[in-house]
Amino acid sequence: MSLQDIKTRIANAETAAGRPQGSVKLIAVSKVQPNERVEAVLQQGHRCFGENRVQEAAGKWPALKERYSGIDLHLIGPLQTNKARQAMELCNAIHSVDRPKLAKTLARLTQEIGACPDLFIQVNTGEEEQKAGVLPSGADSFIAECRDLELPVLGLMCIPPVDEEPSLHFALLAKIADRNGLEGLSMGMSGDFETAVALGATHVRVGSAIFGERVKSQG
Ligand SMILES: *Cc1c(COP(=O)(O)O)cnc(C)c1O
Repeated sequence: MSLQDIKTRIANAETAAGRPQGSVKLIAVSKVQPNERVEAVLQQGHRCFGENRVQEAAGKWPALKERYSGIDLHLIGPLQTNKARQAMELCNAIHSVDRPKLAKTLARLTQEIGACPDLFIQVNTGEEEQKAGVLPSGADSFIAECRDLELPVLGLMCIPPVDEEPSLHFALLAKIADRNGLEGLSMGMSGDFETAVALGATHVRVGSAIFGERVKSQG
């Protein structure tokens, strides 16, 4: 696969779903990938990337941002409150808002910094114990809590269980977003992004299908 192949497949999925071209943003998930692969994608003009660890992102993106303008960096992995400031200063969007303590920290830092990245609330649609995210039953109240804090919540994010039909999870996420008046849907990875586009994804997070297999597996 290549960046262009993935872009073509997204465009075809948009058309098949009767959605306008360009309605889905491709986040190229560059975590753990060697720098030369990331730079190859940058040199093809792509600017939107995803990382799942603040520390790794902080180690590699400031230098790349100096060399390539217009980088749009998305944090897609769990965020500890003690790394929230760093994440807010480094990233344009955070997809893993999942608990009141983090929401309150982001709200306080927004006052201090004067800006906040676009936020997605992660929903644990599969109710998996080891996975981050609010449970579907708690999503409405947590969304309301984030809105009370005046956080810029763009939408919802999910990572379906590996062994289940992803479309059920994407549909559930879309339903929760719809009843809360949220437009952003961060869902779909290398194996299922076309399904996600069919069910309304606005942001797909695609790593290995663009860059090749990750050398060591992570998150
Ligand atoms: C790694 C990761 C992805 C990308 O996974 P691929 O299967 O390589 O496309 C997407 N979302 C999250 C949250 C991830 O951690």
